[in-house]
Amino acid sequence: MKCSKCDRDAVIRIPYANLYLCKEHLNEYLEERVERTMRKYGMLKGVKRIAVAVSGGKDSTSLLHILHRLSQRLGFEVIGVTIDLGIDSGRAYSSKSVEVAVKNFEALRVPYRVVSLKREYGFTVEDAKRGIRRPVCSSCGLAKRYVLSQVAEEEKADALATGHNLNDMAQFVMIGYYSGDVENLARLEPVSPPKFYSHYKIKPLFLTYEKEIMTFALVNGIPFMIESCPLSWRVGGTTQEAMRRKLEELEEQVPGFMLRLVETFVNKVRGPLAEKYVREEEVSKCKVCGRPTVKGRDICSFCAMRLKLARSQGVSKVS
Ligand SMILES: [Zn+2]
Ligand SMILES: [Zn+2]
Repeated sequence: MKCSKCDRDAVIRIPYANLYLCKEHLNEYLEERVERTMRKYGMLKGVKRIAVAVSGGKDSTSLLHILHRLSQRLGFEVIGVTIDLGIDSGRAYSSKSVEVAVKNFEALRVPYRVVSLKREYGFTVEDAKRGIRRPVCSSCGLAKRYVLSQVAEEEKADALATGHNLNDMAQFVMIGYYSGDVENLARLEPVSPPKFYSHYKIKPLFLTYEKEIMTFALVNGIPFMIESCPLSWRVGGTTQEAMRRKLEELEEQVPGFMLRLVETFVNKVRGPLAEKYVREEEVSKCKVCGRPTVKGRDICSFCAMRLKLARSQGVSKVS
């Protein structure tokens, strides 16, 4: 098939927009889409410096490339952040992920930070899996949120961007409805204003389909990790995966389904939920790391996890 906008061969069909696009026009399409999303949802307001969390997967590496392309025209700087989580599982998973992230940072010449969980905080995600009774994905998520916020603050970024795509968001919405987790649904937003810290958290790809991002990464020769985390597939909720597949089937039958689902949720449902279920949390200071934590708690959840882990390894203090 030919591109709907020029004479070149198309690399992708975009059913909900009734378009076939060549590589150049796909690039243009995605840049415009991300720019429009960022403008519409206020992700650019007062933003001069964006820290991009790069795991090495297709979404975060593509996000880095798209934001890098937009940065000059829209007047912000990009800084890359990647975390060495210490997941090995005989496949050197984390070291390969870090290597891929760094390859992208260097190719684009963006400044970057690599944070080693082991070196800076004394443990790996594999230690957490062995040492504490808690689903490993939840420990890993907690560690990532903590470290990324820390780096964004240190680097004086106004926003921290993550690569969540439309398929991820659609899945979160459906799982939230399914389990009746109203508080989590209320917090599922494309832009979270600074609460404990001074930066926004933004999801510039939240209205972009996974297939478009995958094609973007492939046709532009962006290096990325295809493997998914070796720890998550064993634990991963099969309900989540089933929901994701069903959403993809629905999308085939009703082009634009996920877009409608997520836009409706964000524009009409989330606000009233937040009014009813989200209370303003007062802030106090963590006694271990000095960073903000929920009032009434002496120790933040990240430090609490590190203490538990240290105790399980026979160490009585963390620094
Ligand atoms: Zn074209
Ligand atoms: Zn703390």
